[in-house]
Amino acid sequence: MAEYLASIFGTEKDKVNCSFYFKIGACRHGDRCSRIHNKPTFSQTVLLQNLYVNPQNSAKSADGSHLVSNVTDEEMQEHYDNFFEDVFVECEDKYGEIEEMNVCDNLGDHLVGNVYIKFRREEHAEAAVNDLNNRWFGGRPVYAELSPVTDFREACCRQYEMGECTRSGFCNFMHLKPISRELRNIFIVVDHADIVHVVAHVIMLEHVEPDHLS
Ligand SMILES: [Zn+2]
Ligand SMILES: [Zn+2]
Repeated sequence: MAEYLASIFGTEKDKVNCSFYFKIGACRHGDRCSRIHNKPTFSQTVLLQNLYVNPQNSAKSADGSHLVSNVTDEEMQEHYDNFFEDVFVECEDKYGEIEEMNVCDNLGDHLVGNVYIKFRREEHAEAAVNDLNNRWFGGRPVYAELSPVTDFREACCRQYEMGECTRSGFCNFMHLKPISRELRNIFIVVDHADIVHVVAHVIMLEHVEPDHLS
């Protein structure tokens, strides 16, 4: 029985634990969900709730209806790239090495603008949560928490990736917002420099080895 329960944990068959919270780190029912949201005590991943505000979505008039946005797609991409780079660089400098950072393009309240940062080490994620909860961003307080999400392939909407999601912004799986090719290239260069550094280090060690043996 215990084995069966372990095998269905966090899946749709699990009637106790919420599969959406387990896989995506957010569920549309929030605290009123009838299933349990098991908040992790340790995790590599930090969720910053609703952190990114898309200038195209925020153009609303006083009665709440959308104004025709005068932000072009290029301006929106530049705004997003700057946000992504700022958050990534600051969090890596302050808390530790980042494995992956993802931002949701969904429109539902529980997913809109969510930023997920997966650190290489759990203690770096913990330090980030403690510090970021005392911070403000764009005039609003930051809400940070440890998230159960570690496998983003499981959290993402497969139909969206194939351009076929019919639920568009209100899908309950992650629709990730892509950074521009230019920014991707910068990150790849950084990764590449790290690899070169590691390779150089290994070569140096190999040269050192024989001396140790003598
Ligand atoms: Zn739930
Ligand atoms: Zn979808």
